[in-house]
Amino acid sequence: MGIYYCDAKNYQGYHDYWKKPCEEAKEQAFYWFQEKYRFPLLDYMIQNQLEVLKKYYLHGNQEEILQELSEMISTTLVATTWQTEELKEKEIVYPLSKNQAKYLVEEFLREIDPTLTWLNEFYTLEKSNRIIDNITDSRLDRKHKHLTSWHLFYAGEKEWCIYAPWRNTLEDSISLVHEFCHYITCKDEIASNTTVFPLSEFSSLFFETLMCEFLKKKELK
Ligand SMILES: [Zn+2]
Repeated sequence: MGIYYCDAKNYQGYHDYWKKPCEEAKEQAFYWFQEKYRFPLLDYMIQNQLEVLKKYYLHGNQEEILQELSEMISTTLVATTWQTEELKEKEIVYPLSKNQAKYLVEEFLREIDPTLTWLNEFYTLEKSNRIIDNITDSRLDRKHKHLTSWHLFYAGEKEWCIYAPWRNTLEDSISLVHEFCHYITCKDEIASNTTVFPLSEFSSLFFETLMCEFLKKKELK
């Protein structure tokens, strides 16, 4: 809390906090910390994952492959999850309704998985009303209400939901594919037993890229 207040040069705030600590300030400091130290934290997490994998699972040149993989993940993550101002200008602005976005995702799923397993999963998700765009939905807990971006969250009882803040641009269809892949990997798990970030981003980023290729091929006009 000290670093948080000193960084903002808010010494009075620091003084007040010690007199009367409050949860809201703690939460704000937590988000500030995540934001400010995202890159060192990400590096640390990747290194940590590598150590674990080396220690228990890898032999010989597999280590090299993993090193490459982790570099790729961190580069992609920097470019997508944590966009810089400069990158934000390059947002995809092609207008698209929510239903058009869903339809494109369905078409994409049909193409990449002719067994239609993924498409049926997508229908299940939709029919059970687990693509949520209402921030006041009771399934979103307090922690999630702060988030403004797309994410998959656990609503208990192995019920995974996607929070979908539609932007009504082509980007929605890509975000939906990204979160849907998280859903596929998590759907049979409980929240405490999922792949650790940032490795959990790998499959989502892969299919997100495939979706971009799919859209380019369609040449939407
Ligand atoms: Zn993700």
